[in-house]
Amino acid sequence: MEDKINAYSDILDLIGNTPLIRLNKIAAPLEGNFYAKVEAFNPGHSSKDRIAAYIIDEAERQGILTEGSTIIETTSGNTGFSIAMVSIIKGYECILAVSSKSSKDKIDMLRSMGAKVYVCPAHVSADDPRSYYQVAKRLHEETKGSIYINQYFNRLNIEAHYQSTGPEIWSQTNGNITHLVACSGTGGTISGTARYLKEKNPDIRIIGVDAHGSVLKKYHETGELDTNEIYPYRIEGLGKNLIPDATDFEVIDKFIKVTDEDSAHTAREISRTEGIFVGYTSGAVMQAVKQLNEEGEFSVDSKVVVIFPDHGSRYMSKIYSDQWMNDQGFFDSRNIEASQKIQF
Ligand code: PMP
Repeated sequence: MEDKINAYSDILDLIGNTPLIRLNKIAAPLEGNFYAKVEAFNPGHSSKDRIAAYIIDEAERQGILTEGSTIIETTSGNTGFSIAMVSIIKGYECILAVSSKSSKDKIDMLRSMGAKVYVCPAHVSADDPRSYYQVAKRLHEETKGSIYINQYFNRLNIEAHYQSTGPEIWSQTNGNITHLVACSGTGGTISGTARYLKEKNPDIRIIGVDAHGSVLKKYHETGELDTNEIYPYRIEGLGKNLIPDATDFEVIDKFIKVTDEDSAHTAREISRTEGIFVGYTSGAVMQAVKQLNEEGEFSVDSKVVVIFPDHGSRYMSKIYSDQWMNDQGFFDSRNIEASQKIQF
């Protein structure tokens, strides 16, 4: 008889059930209790593992995907990595149409995970046949039995978090959560998690984090897309220049905007104070918490859950590079030397 081996059947078994970790030092000056749902503990190091696995499973259940089918998406970011990982295990071909703005590191990483990467010109309009949207659409139309994940417009993105992130947070807090603060990019994470939590307790406050240069906050307040709100910003994965179908604005109580500079410094602060090596948008969410604290959003009894979407290793040449921080002018207004900023 074979010895009993304690092993996972494959890497996908490790998706979800990420830990909730109490924030101690960084939250010490704030009113209330703060806990981070650390999504970097997913095997692909981000929350996007959940949607990749869920959407692909759903397509299998519906009989759309069969052995050797093709999965298509338009991102060089976390979602691309997660889809590539799920595709390897399930035996699908993964095609990612990405912008030529994507870094070489990201493209190499996706290719290392078996994805076929089409690099499309960045400076063409979305309806140009060379744009990554159009290339993805064309490949989807031409490839029989393929699926196009289209995360900004796919309601299964919300469903994935309704089925996993929401119940996990409810159970990890024993229903005692008072606030959820989360970034909104596609909106899938905050919308699915919030919908579940509000069904359990409608009094839980749901606060979305948006970027300056993105339309989400204004749209939530006015119901209109104000193109004057749109301008370039550096943080990736947060905010948008259009209204995604994967955002359920009704379950979000309010949005708060954060700057690129504050978010970068706060991400570095989380890493230094809590020992949790987080990505740029985790800095954004914690920065939002600091601002909300100033606004008097919390009380001593508040139990606030924040979602940290991904791992710091993806930002070595950005927020964790003093050179990059300096080049952005992020050290200027704070009157600190770059080298000092990373010392204890
Ligand atoms: N942070 C990062 C790093 C992301 O890649 C994303 C996804 N775009 C988000 C936050 C926001 O998550 P969601 O798309 O579910 O709103």
